[in-house]
Amino acid sequence: MKLNNGVEIPDIGYGVYEIPPKITKECVLTALKIGYRHIDTAAYYKNEREVGEATRESGIPRNEIFVTTKICLAGNYQKACKKIEDCLARLGLDYIDLLLYHWPSGKNVEVYKAMEDYYKKGKIRAIGLSNFYGKKLDEILANCEIVPAVNQIETHVLRNQKEEQALLESKGIVLESWSPLGNGSKKIFNNEILLKIAAKHQKTVAQVSLRYLYQRKVLIIPRSKNEGRMRENFNILDFMLDEEDIKEIETLDRKKSLLGWL
Ligand code: NAD
Repeated sequence: MKLNNGVEIPDIGYGVYEIPPKITKECVLTALKIGYRHIDTAAYYKNEREVGEATRESGIPRNEIFVTTKICLAGNYQKACKKIEDCLARLGLDYIDLLLYHWPSGKNVEVYKAMEDYYKKGKIRAIGLSNFYGKKLDEILANCEIVPAVNQIETHVLRNQKEEQALLESKGIVLESWSPLGNGSKKIFNNEILLKIAAKHQKTVAQVSLRYLYQRKVLIIPRSKNEGRMRENFNILDFMLDEEDIKEIETLDRKKSLLGWL
């Protein structure tokens, strides 16, 4: 997918939240072997170092791997600059492909200004937000020089964010889904409608859930430590949900958080 500054981002990424640092390098190398070229980490996940190692040691040219990281609790301009430097150092990379402000906190406009300055210096190829809604989002849009490329928010079949996506798109911002599988919720994996649609296409519930977002041009970053599931989540391009499937899936939208995090 093309972001609002022309930078291309692979639409299926690999998320590493809750992947212990001890096994992160191995997991990322497996993901890269399968074909993933987009890795989503964060300072908060404490595994940036291992993501950087895998990226550098994979043998794949740096410019073919898209690395997202996130800063959090940055507070103000100065602290944000320090946090960005720390991310670059931990990753051991010359640049970050996408940097997000993980959730609103402190002086958001100042933090965003620091991100803009690192973008202008060529240290970050695209900048964006995560978990920004309503007034918090408006405040950035009213004060920014560079429109955020992405807003990464909770999005899956039980919270499909269609209205939020339309709003973001009207501002030139791409919707990126966090927890595209609802963090592994049984409410998704045991859902009868999803099981029926999966059987109809001879696919799994995970593949149907991810394909639904993919067809809506939502960026997805599913996470798994299991190679078979990593493959399963990546292989969603050889089937298509029809209008009837989509209508049924959209009856599942609860219009509220499933996870209650942010
Ligand atoms: P997810 O929605 O990707 O679900 C992962 C869970 O589903 C795991 O328990 C995994 O074992 C299970 N699973 C994965 N593939 C499966 C399959 N094919 N069959 C059966 N079970 C399967 O979970 P997530 O990690 O919460 O979200 C994905 C990524 O989004 C994260 O790793 C992280 O990068 C990002 N994220 C960002 C934020 C944010 O605030 N910006 C918050 C949460 C997650």
